[in-house]
Amino acid sequence: AKARVAVVGGGYGGATAAKYIRMLDPAIHVTLIEPNEAFVSCPLSNMVLGGFRGIGDITTPYTGLAKHGVEVVRDWATAVDMTTKTVALKGGSKVAFDRVILSPGVDFMWEALPSMASAEAQAAVLHAWKAGPQTVSLRKQLEAMPDGGVFVISVPLAPFRCPPGPYERVCQVAAYFKAAKPRSKIILLDENADVISKGPLFKKAWTDLYGGMIDYRPNSKAVDVDWKGRTVKLEFGDQKGDVLNVIPPQRAGDVAKPFITANNRWCEVDWTTFESKAHKGAHVLGDALQVAPLMPKSGSMANGHGRICATAVVALLNGEAPNPSPTLINTCYSMVSDKLAVHVTSVHKYDEKDRTMKTVPGAGGVSAAMNEAEGVYTMNWARNIWADALA
Ligand code: FAD
Repeated sequence: AKARVAVVGGGYGGATAAKYIRMLDPAIHVTLIEPNEAFVSCPLSNMVLGGFRGIGDITTPYTGLAKHGVEVVRDWATAVDMTTKTVALKGGSKVAFDRVILSPGVDFMWEALPSMASAEAQAAVLHAWKAGPQTVSLRKQLEAMPDGGVFVISVPLAPFRCPPGPYERVCQVAAYFKAAKPRSKIILLDENADVISKGPLFKKAWTDLYGGMIDYRPNSKAVDVDWKGRTVKLEFGDQKGDVLNVIPPQRAGDVAKPFITANNRWCEVDWTTFESKAHKGAHVLGDALQVAPLMPKSGSMANGHGRICATAVVALLNGEAPNPSPTLINTCYSMVSDKLAVHVTSVHKYDEKDRTMKTVPGAGGVSAAMNEAEGVYTMNWARNIWADALA
């Protein structure tokens, strides 16, 4: 019988894995389970908040995967049963597999912000940390804010999805305010002790491009949100604003719960195959993973995970040995205005002795300064990775 692989989640990790398995071995049947009609990219979604892109510019249909013979099932996976080797779907049916790959991204630890538990609260104070309807709604809130208003964004302690993301976001919102509402202010409440990615580059952009508009407050831990009073409750003091954007702490997506092995939050894997340390036959990719040292939770990384995992799964299903020492490359661009960008890049190689991914010394680095050429590279990076994962 044909070998069957079920993939849960059609984001950067899952879509890539599904497509690459089909390209490497068309004899394998691949079912991708994803509730969304189309893929909406978190990378570049901050530009939608800035008003420089529309949501349509960051949306790609799943039809490209069907062309590779991936069976795309539009549904939620509610449970993964490793005994019967089936994924249960919300719609009531089941998908059988020989191996399962989970790339569900993150879900939020709302328990860290008690008053945010209700759907009403979550509709009023947005995270926009999953691209889609929340991105559009947060943009509308920014548009409705009067000139002279205050935008308050709060950032959880690392690790979280996209280390440079919050700092890019304030650049994009500042670019919008500078053009449309120059008397407005941005207060960046950061639970971390300092900007955790590309710090000097972001700080220079904030000063040189946006003057005194951005008020950066490190060591500011959000402990709750008075969403009716539009106030972020901090460990020390409160901060009121006109538009609040609270990014809660995160953990592996709900469906990956049985595979969580680290700190009640993340899933650990064998880095040569991405096979779960909790269950043989299950693989986990992307943001849901417990990262190796200096490894970010990024789309760039999840895409690389998807390719290594696909290669390993095809080898294992064909009774072959997987590559014993894979390499991952990460590049994260950030748009600091409508045209200027900065980047950070790193190379991670499997260390067979310590059984983890380690950064390759001397490889990688950051931009010397923000520049327009990298703004063009950012758009090319996005087009290329969307094509690699989905076309
Ligand atoms: P996702 O891409 O989120 O995919 C998860 C998918 O699983 C989703 O489609 C979801 O619908 C689906 N899913 C979840 N649960 C279920 C279920 N139970 N059943 C079926 N399907 C399910 N990374 C970069 O490399 N470069 C950037 O410039 C960059 N910018 C970013 C900016 C912002 C504002 C944010 C928030 C993130 C950014 N990232 C960036 C990070 C990047 O988006 C993530 O690291 C990446 O999406 C992780 O891929 P993933 O496959 O783990 O999860």
